[in-house]
Amino acid sequence: MQKFEVYRNQLREWEYCYCRNCERIRYSFELEVTECGIRCSKCGAYDLEAPAWVSCPHQKPRAVKCPRAGKGIKKEEYGDDCRYHCNFRKHVREPSKDKENPT
Ligand SMILES: [Zn+2]
Repeated sequence: MQKFEVYRNQLREWEYCYCRNCERIRYSFELEVTECGIRCSKCGAYDLEAPAWVSCPHQKPRAVKCPRAGKGIKKEEYGDDCRYHCNFRKHVREPSKDKENPT
């Protein structure tokens, strides 16, 4: 498989990620795939953080694909909290996508 294909599949898996350069979440339509990898189409940086499945304090009890990979979660006296109130899922409204990705 070509590198380009590998990165394109990776982006499809990610759906969104975090651009360290812009310091904000970028969705797949704001990202682009090149032979060198996935980059932010706004700033052109490859400095992206991959999302990861974590138990988000704001989305309990489900595990969510966190754009910051749970980096913002910290232990509080009354339970966990996350310093990023990102509500990233709000912007991802593509119900047809779920059918394409049976688990
Ligand atoms: Zn960027």
